[in-house]
Amino acid sequence: MSASLSRRRFLQVTGASAAAAGAFGALPRLRAAGRPAETGIRTVPTFCDVCFWKCNAIATVRDGVLWKIEGNPDDPLSRGRLCPRGTGGVGAHFDSDRLRAPLLRASVRGEERWTEVTWDQALSHVAEKLQQIKARYGPEAVALFSHGIGGTFLRHTLKAYGVVNVAAPSFAQCRGPRDVGFELTFGEGIGSPERTDIRNARCLVLIGSHLGENMHNTQVQEFADAVGSGATVIVADPRFSVAASKAKHYLPVRAGSDLALLLAWMNVIVGEGLYDKDYVAQHGFGFEAFAADIAPWTPEWAYPETGIEPETIRETAREMARHRPATLVHPGRHSSWYGDDAQRSRAIALLNALLGSWGRKGGFYQPASMSVPGFPYPPYPKSEKGKVDNPAKRFPFASEAITTGIREATISEKPYPVKGWVVYATNLVQALPNEAETTKAIQNLDLLVVVDVIGSEIAGWADVVLPEATYLERHDELNVELFREPFVALRQPVVAPPHDQKPNWWIARQLAVKLGLEAYYPWKTIEEYLERRLQGAGLRLAELQKKGVVRGQPQPIYYEDGVVPDFATPSKKIEFYSVQLKEAGFDPVPRYSRPAQGPPGSLRLLFGRAPVHSFSRTQTNPVLSQAMSENEVWVNVDVAVRAGLKSGDRVRLRNQDGVVSNPVRVKATQAIRPDAVYLVHGFGHTSRMLRRALGRGASDAGLVTRYATDPLMGGTGMHVNFVTLEQEA
Ligand code: SF4
Repeated sequence: MSASLSRRRFLQVTGASAAAAGAFGALPRLRAAGRPAETGIRTVPTFCDVCFWKCNAIATVRDGVLWKIEGNPDDPLSRGRLCPRGTGGVGAHFDSDRLRAPLLRASVRGEERWTEVTWDQALSHVAEKLQQIKARYGPEAVALFSHGIGGTFLRHTLKAYGVVNVAAPSFAQCRGPRDVGFELTFGEGIGSPERTDIRNARCLVLIGSHLGENMHNTQVQEFADAVGSGATVIVADPRFSVAASKAKHYLPVRAGSDLALLLAWMNVIVGEGLYDKDYVAQHGFGFEAFAADIAPWTPEWAYPETGIEPETIRETAREMARHRPATLVHPGRHSSWYGDDAQRSRAIALLNALLGSWGRKGGFYQPASMSVPGFPYPPYPKSEKGKVDNPAKRFPFASEAITTGIREATISEKPYPVKGWVVYATNLVQALPNEAETTKAIQNLDLLVVVDVIGSEIAGWADVVLPEATYLERHDELNVELFREPFVALRQPVVAPPHDQKPNWWIARQLAVKLGLEAYYPWKTIEEYLERRLQGAGLRLAELQKKGVVRGQPQPIYYEDGVVPDFATPSKKIEFYSVQLKEAGFDPVPRYSRPAQGPPGSLRLLFGRAPVHSFSRTQTNPVLSQAMSENEVWVNVDVAVRAGLKSGDRVRLRNQDGVVSNPVRVKATQAIRPDAVYLVHGFGHTSRMLRRALGRGASDAGLVTRYATDPLMGGTGMHVNFVTLEQEA
C-alpha cells in the first residue's frame, strides 16, 4: 500500500468566522488591519530558528513589511553571515500554508476536519482534558515531546502540572548515540553547538558527516577556513558528498561497516606506535587491554567488510597521526544508523583519544558559557512513579529520555498508561521510525495537542492544534549556550504575527492559568521574565534589545592554554577500556559485527540533509521551497542503466515491507555506491495542510518501517531499510 494513501484524510475547517478560505487562503501583504501604516526602514536584532544552531541575526523591516534577515556581525556563531536557509527564513512569516487560528478536531483522528475556535476555548478544552487525565491516571500519564528552545515555557507549565515524561527526537533518533559514546569515553558529550575546533584542524576526518549539506553555520564556515588554509580532509562515506569533493582521500566505505574501518585505523595507529604516547600515558585508562583487544582488526581483516584497500586504510591512518593533535575525527551529529551506534561513536572517541585531540587545539576545545541564573520558580511536584521510557533501565546508558520508549508505553500501557501527548515543534510522524507504531500509539490517547507554526503530519492527527507565532514574531528563552566564548542572546519580535498566532510563552502561561498553576508564573510579561534573568548576570534587557547578543570574557579553551583536564568517568581518565560497559554485559572495547543485509537485489536506503531545508519543517516556506521543492533519489548510474533508468525519470521506492513511496525523480550518478540509494530527508509530505509541499518528493521516513535499537542507550538505527525501484509509467 502506498505510504501516502495509507488512510483517508480530508482537510476541512468550519467555524463562525472561519470559512476555510479565511483560515488557509492566500495571504495578502502582512500588515495587521487597523494598525497605522509604518514607513521607513528599521532593524531588529534577534536569533534564527530555522534550525537549532540559533545564529544571531539582524532583521530589516521596510515600510512595515519584513524585508530581509542577515547575520549579526557581533555574533560568534554566525560571524555576521547566515546560511542559505537562515536567509530564507523570512519566508516562514509569509507562508500561506501556516496555521492561522486554534483548531479543534471535528471528526475521527486521521481525518483532517477541524472547527476553528478562540484561544480561550482551545486552552480551556486542553486544560479540562489534562485535568481529567490527571484525575484518572495521574499527571505522569501526560508526555511532552518538544524540539528546540521554544519548548522551554511549555515544559515549565507541564512540569508544574506534574509531567515527568519529556523527550525529544534529537536524542534517540539523532545525536544520542554520539553523546553516549563520548560520555563513556571522556565523561562528557559533544554538546550543541559541537565543541569541534574545525578552524584549527590540520587534518579533518568525516565519517558519514555531510558538512556543507548538513548546514550548521559555524562548522561550515570553519570547514571552508580549514580547507582554505590547506588542512587535509579525509572522507569515508558511501556517497560522494559535497565534503568529499574537498577531500584528499575519499573512501567509499560500504554502508554499515564504519566501525570496522575505525577499528582498522586504530589497529594501525597502535600497531605502528603512531599514537600520542604521552597523552595516553597521562590521561588514559586501560590502554593495554584496549591494545590487545584491537590487535586482530587489521586493514586486511577490514577490507572485505569495508571495501577499502588495506593500503588506503594504512595511508589515511598515518596521515591522521602526522597531524596530531590537530587531527579532528568529527563526531557527526545524526548518528542513529545501524543499532551499534553508541559503540561506533565510542570508537570515534577512542580514535580521537589516540591522536590526543580531546582538549587540544585543532581537536575538541573546552566550551564556556555565561552565568545567567534561572528564574526563581517554586519547585515542581515530585513523582513516585518515575518515567515510562526506559523501565528497569533496559538501556543502562541512556542519558536522556527515549521518545520511542514513551511511544511503546503508550501502546502497551506498561509500566503505566500514557493518555496525553503534548507535541511542540516536532513532527513525530516523520521524526520517529515506523509511522504505523506512532499512529497506533496515538489511537490509544485521550488527548493529542500539537503546538506548531505549520500543520505537519502530526498536527493532522491532533485533537487540538495551537498555532504558534514564528521566531520572527515572538520572544523566546534567552540563548546561553556553551561555545568557544561565552555569550547571551535575545530573540525578540521583528513583526507582528499576521493572524491569530501566539508566542509559545503566552500559550504556556495561559495554559498554566487555566490549570490553576499561576504560582509558577510570578511574571506577567515576557519582558519582566527576561529582565529578571538578565539582571542576575549584571545585564539589562535594553542592551540585549539593542545589540541582540552580548559576549562575555573569553576563557582558555585548550589544555595547552591552562584548561585542567577533568574526565567524569568512573576512573577519572579517558576510558580506553570501560569497566562499566563490561559490568553491564557489553563490550568494554568496541567490536564490529556485520549489520543485516537486505533481500537480494535491494538497495540500502540512506538519508541526509540539504543546505536549504531543516527536517520536515521548511518545505512549505515559499523561499526555501523555491530553492528546493522536492528531493531526488540518488542511484548509482550502473544500477540505473541496468534498470533502464536515467536521470529525471520518476520511480517509486518499495521497501522490504511493501511500503511504496510517492514518485520521485532519479539522479543517476557515479557519486554513490551501487549497493545504496540516498534521499534528502523531510519530503513526501502527506498532510493536506501543507499544500505547497503535499506529495512532493519521496518520504524516507515513510520507508523507515524497521529500526535497530541500540542496546546501550535505546537509539533507533534507521539505515537498516532496503528498497527496490519501480519505474512510473
Ligand atoms: S545554521 Fe542557518 S538555519 Fe541554522 S540557525 Fe544558523 S542561519 Fe539559521
